[in-house]
Amino acid sequence: MTAHVELAGVTKRYGRVTAVDRVDLQIPKGEFFALLGPSGSGKTTLLRLLAGFELPDEGRVVIAGRDVAQVPPYHRPVNMVFQAYALFPHLSVARNVAFGLEMERVGKSEIQARVAEALAQVELSGFEDRKPDQLSGGQRQRVAIARAIVKRPELLLLDEPLAALDRRLREKTRAELRALQQRLGLTFVMVTHDQDEALALATRIAVLDRGRIVQVGTPAELYERPASRFVAEFLGDCNLLEAAIVEPGVAALPGGARLHFAGDAAPGSRVTLAIRPEKIAIGADGRNTAVGTIEAVEYLGDISHLQVRLPDGTALEVTRVNGAGPPLVAGDRLMLTIPLEAITVLPA
Ligand code: ADP
Ligand code: MG
Repeated sequence: MTAHVELAGVTKRYGRVTAVDRVDLQIPKGEFFALLGPSGSGKTTLLRLLAGFELPDEGRVVIAGRDVAQVPPYHRPVNMVFQAYALFPHLSVARNVAFGLEMERVGKSEIQARVAEALAQVELSGFEDRKPDQLSGGQRQRVAIARAIVKRPELLLLDEPLAALDRRLREKTRAELRALQQRLGLTFVMVTHDQDEALALATRIAVLDRGRIVQVGTPAELYERPASRFVAEFLGDCNLLEAAIVEPGVAALPGGARLHFAGDAAPGSRVTLAIRPEKIAIGADGRNTAVGTIEAVEYLGDISHLQVRLPDGTALEVTRVNGAGPPLVAGDRLMLTIPLEAITVLPA
């Protein structure tokens, strides 16, 4: 993998707070990369380090083969799309897009051609004369992207790109944004605290916790093989059960139930078992079966979330796809199977 963007040992401190702590990261050209983490984990600071709005205390920032750690923002081959898009309300779409080029004193005819090209790329040809308040939220976002790509950057940075939109619009805009990134073939680095957004959009995701990258992978890798409780919990719903390994391939839960798993955790060790609720099967199907009692049902139309209590007292969340069989209600008893491969063994 030839890195298009590379961070090596990057640290940024604000007084006593270490906002970004020895981050190493390589992003190949054309990826839609997401920085995902809770509030305060250092996402925005990382993005600002890439943009050049902040300089690292330590480490290297390399973009398109050039060490830019000490290069100011306007000399970096990078552009940023801000959270609320920051369009000029009194300027037309075309003037908003042209603004950066006008500042650089690019010639009039070249500006016209490049603005037309950028608007065509975001499918806003014909919207040149509108004002931002005559556009939908998704269209405003595309103007902000056009304004960034008109400068022909190597890298586009997006800070919470969908946060300014309401929930219904967000899903539609998500699909548009992904299609746009693929069409442009430009490297995107996006910051988000929304796991669904990261899963749906990103080629790869870095999960941040307190300034550090705790795991990097494709959405499926992170979801299917989280490396820690933090990642398992942050991406999707997950049952996290404390357990002790009692013999190879067998874990005991505090209530006494035993679960078989595929893996090589050492007997005697204390672990956390991570089990996604949708991977628990209803019915008897091999090892790890038990009859549980449903304590609560959350009906969501297509699926239901069931809170189930096992005979040894263990509480489990189970997701069931509705439509097969009669509706389940609290008090029902249910045969469950936890497939061996549904269990990820994590450090306690
Ligand atoms: P995120 O975007 O993940 O919410 P930030 O990068 O904004 O996280 O912040 C990371 C940490 O750095 C937080 O503890 C935050 O309070 C601190 N921080 C960020 N910017 C500044 C600043 N300009 N001055 C002081 N502390 C800051
Ligand atoms: Mg932020």
